[in-house]
Amino acid sequence: MHSRDPDAIVVGAGPNGLTAAAYLARAGLSVLVLEAEQEPGGAVRTREVTLPGFRHDLGAAFFPFGQTSPALLPLDLPGAGLVWRHAPIDSAHPAPDGTCASIARDVEATARSLGEDDGPTWRRIAGWHARTRERMLDALLSTPPALGAMLRFGPLNLLRLAQVVLSSGRGFATRTFRTEAARRVVPGLALHTDVGPEDPCGAIVGFMLTLLASSGGFAVPEGGAGAITRALLRRVEEGGGGVRCGARVEQILVREGRAVAVRLAGGEEISARRAIVADLAAPTLYLRLLDAGVVPARIQRAMRRFRQGFGTFKMDWALDGPVPWSHEDAARAAVVHAGDSLDDLAAFTRQVRAGALPDHPYLVIGQQSLVDPTRAPAGRHTLWAYSRVPSSIDGGWAASRERFADRVEARLEELAPGFRRRILARAIWSPDDLEAMDANLLGGDLGGGSADIRHQLFFRPVFPYFRYRTPVRGLYLGSSYAHPGAGVHGACGRNAALAVLEDEG
Ligand SMILES: Cc1cc2nc3c(=O)[nH]c(=O)nc-3n(C[C@H](O)[C@H](O)[C@H](O)COP(=O)(O)OP(=O)(O)OC[C@H]3O[C@@H](n4cnc5c(N)ncnc54)[C@H](O)[C@@H]3O)c2cc1C
Repeated sequence: MHSRDPDAIVVGAGPNGLTAAAYLARAGLSVLVLEAEQEPGGAVRTREVTLPGFRHDLGAAFFPFGQTSPALLPLDLPGAGLVWRHAPIDSAHPAPDGTCASIARDVEATARSLGEDDGPTWRRIAGWHARTRERMLDALLSTPPALGAMLRFGPLNLLRLAQVVLSSGRGFATRTFRTEAARRVVPGLALHTDVGPEDPCGAIVGFMLTLLASSGGFAVPEGGAGAITRALLRRVEEGGGGVRCGARVEQILVREGRAVAVRLAGGEEISARRAIVADLAAPTLYLRLLDAGVVPARIQRAMRRFRQGFGTFKMDWALDGPVPWSHEDAARAAVVHAGDSLDDLAAFTRQVRAGALPDHPYLVIGQQSLVDPTRAPAGRHTLWAYSRVPSSIDGGWAASRERFADRVEARLEELAPGFRRRILARAIWSPDDLEAMDANLLGGDLGGGSADIRHQLFFRPVFPYFRYRTPVRGLYLGSSYAHPGAGVHGACGRNAALAVLEDEG
């Protein structure tokens, strides 16, 4: 150990790794972030991948937590140069029958979109959310069991949430809303993860995303998602921390039960004086980076059986104009969801679970350039979309990627006739491509493991290591594989940093 060695090493410069580093640096620790790729950001990066002048978000693109997460707010990212932009509508859910349910930050705009049948119900839900949002996010994003935050949220509010938690997406939607258009919203948003409409206790994921779309909104960072990474980096560097790219950690070295150093590809060893925070996939950490002798057999077994979420198939387009949506709401929305009905979403989920290529893909479609003109040359547009797919398919993804990309475009064409004529270029990211871009996206899973209720809270990523600590002293897990999971909220990283600071006095 040298006096030059950092107090803390963070492995991985995704948003959670950078948030952990920023908190540790602010607390006065010297911090070194080691990142395998040539640039920081993990799944939060922006690059020209189709044509010059078209800037595409490689992974995450819409940030409901950006202006609401209690982990990010103290870092004041706008003060570090981040500018948020919003579309008039946050989430549009059109169908070929001409109906469209839309969620906006404006409660009355949403109520109008849901009509006389469901508008009054929405006003009640939105009113409750407005009264409880901050306390709810605090409870949701804090280190479990977060008893203090739960108490502040209040027993009646917990009871109300428990009713949602106990429902499937279909059960909640049919009980709460009258029209098919409104009913497809919550289960449609749940499929950002691997939770289908019929899954027991599946409603909560889509419900939370619906609430967040209506309050934080599906916000778009000016200049691209990479602007979030730049702002986080600035906070790390202001605290005296640094990031070294092209530094893939291949081993975490443990002496006398304590994590003391990392070994990089190429053999270099770097010691950490006080802690190592892993912004890594839990199975990678426990099965590959740690010596089997320091990981209890039970944890190894759990990691071998670890349930990843669905794979992701992502596309980017350069367009010579906006998407010609049939429904006007979709033309004003940051995000559009393609999923015609509860039955359509359920059939899609069954096909993915059966390992088949979905024949009518559910899509999350992002229109960043509608609100951020820096993304494309004047008059032109970018488009971003993903579907959930099996991580691997018969014959491999290389053989099917173009065919499935055509299917995605056909799906868009149903909702926006003439869409294909606007395409100047396209880029395709199969699950394999996504994992090659960011090693945490195992099998193209964007969620840090399944979002199923059995993998949440005390079971994320494995009991009893749900409080960011691991069986190895001085080693912490601060990635989306820890509670509360996927999304750019920084909570996994912040909570891991707080565990370090607590242990280090
Ligand atoms: C296609 C896609 C779309 C998404 N859309 C959204 C969205 O719109 N909104 C949203 O909030 N979230 C979205 N997400 C999810 C969000 O991006 C993730 O939840 C978030 O990035 C997780 O952050 P993280 O820091 O835990 O991990 P990551 O962002 O995955 O970062 C992990 C970092 O660790 C590095 N690393 C891995 N192994 C090593 C190693 N051995 N040594 C050194 N470094 C290593 C990786 O290179 C990477 O930089 C999306 C994700 C994807 C893939």
